[in-house]
Amino acid sequence: MILITGGAGFIGSHLCEKLLNEGEDIICLDNFFTGSKDNIRHLLDNKKFELVRHDITKEYMAEVKQIYNLACPASPVHYQYNPIKTIKTSVLGVTNMLGLAKRCKARILQASTSEVYGDPKVHPQTENYWGNVNPIGIRSCYDEGKRVAETLMMDYHRQNGVDIRIIRIFNTYGPRMAENDGRVVSNFIVQALKNEDITVYGDGMQTRSFCYVDDLVDGAIKMMNNDKGFIGPVNLGNTAETPIIDFAKIIIELTGSRSKIVHKPLPSDDPTQRRPDISLAKEMLEWEPSTELRTGLKKTIEYFDKKLKGEI
Ligand code: NAD
Ligand code: UDP
Repeated sequence: MILITGGAGFIGSHLCEKLLNEGEDIICLDNFFTGSKDNIRHLLDNKKFELVRHDITKEYMAEVKQIYNLACPASPVHYQYNPIKTIKTSVLGVTNMLGLAKRCKARILQASTSEVYGDPKVHPQTENYWGNVNPIGIRSCYDEGKRVAETLMMDYHRQNGVDIRIIRIFNTYGPRMAENDGRVVSNFIVQALKNEDITVYGDGMQTRSFCYVDDLVDGAIKMMNNDKGFIGPVNLGNTAETPIIDFAKIIIELTGSRSKIVHKPLPSDDPTQRRPDISLAKEMLEWEPSTELRTGLKKTIEYFDKKLKGEI
C-alpha cells in the first residue's frame, strides 16, 4: 500500500495514475484545499484506489510501505492565502507523516522545492547550495516551511533511522494544473485562450525552467525506489531556461491568440533566475527529462482548451 498525500492535486493525481498503472494499491489523501475530485474522478472505480479526505496537520494512521508527501499548496497565490496554514502543513504535517513512516517502517519521500534556494546567487542551482531565502517575506511561509520540512526529514533519518528520500522539484507544468492557481503556466494559457491580456510581472527578464509533469513523476518514482541508499536531496527539473517575457510569446504563438502582453508589478522576493543542475539525478537515478517545452505546452494547452469549453 502506497500513501500519496496531496494526491488530488496536480502532480499528485498524475502520480496516483502512474502507480495504479504499475499495479500498486494507493491511498490518496487530500484536504481538497487546492486539489479537486475532478483530478482523480477517473480513478475512483479502480479497486486498488482509495480516497481519504484528511488534513495532514492532524495525525493519520494506516499500514503503508511508502509515503509520497506532496500535500502543500504550491502556487504563490494559494500558499499566501493562508500563510500560517501553509507553514503548519510543512511543519506539523511533515512531522505527522514522519511519525507514520517511523511506526510503519515505511519509506517516505518529501516533495521539496527549488524555493529552498530562494533568490539564488549560484546559477544553475546545485544541491550543495544553501540558498538565499528571506525568512520574513511573503514567500517565507512556503520557502522556510519546505526548508524546515527537509530538516525534519534529515533529523528523523539520523535520530530514528527513518528511510527518507528528498526531491527538490523545479517549476512543473501540465494538464490538471488548477485554472485559477495564479501560476505563470496556467495564467498565460488561460489568458491566451480567452484572448485576454497576458500579465507579465516586472520586465519579464526573470527566468524559470519548466518541466513536464510526466518527466517529473518518473523522476519521483525513480528516487523513491532507488535502493542505493541515495536519500538526496536531489534536484528534479528541466534545464531549458526561459525568460518569462519569452515564455509569454511562446504561449501566444502556440495558441494563435490575439492577446497583448501587459506588464504588472513584480511581487516581492520573486526569484530573478532559476535553473536546476541535474547532474546528480543523472548520475544517481539515470534520470533526465525528455519532453521539449513546446511539446509539453501543446498538451497543456489542449487540456485547458477543453476545460474552458466544459468538455472535461
Ligand atoms: P497542488 O496545489 O495542485 O497540490 C497540492 C495538493 O495538496 C492539493 O491537492 C491540496 O488540496 C493538498 N493539500 C494542501 N494542504 C494539505 C493538507 N494540509 N492536508 C492534506 N492535503 C493538503 O500543487 P502541485 O503543483 O501538485 O504540488 C505538489 C507538491 O509538489 C507540493 O508539495 C509542492 O510544494 C511541490 N512542488 C511543486 C512544484 C510545481 O511546480 N508544481 C514545484 C516545487 C514543489
Ligand atoms: N508570473 C508572471 N505573470 C503571471 C504569473 C507569474 O509574470 O501571471 C511570473 C512570476 O512573477 C514569476 C514567474 O512568472 O517570476 C513564475 O511564477 P509562478 O507563480 O508560476 O511560480 P514561482 O516559480 O514564482 O513559484
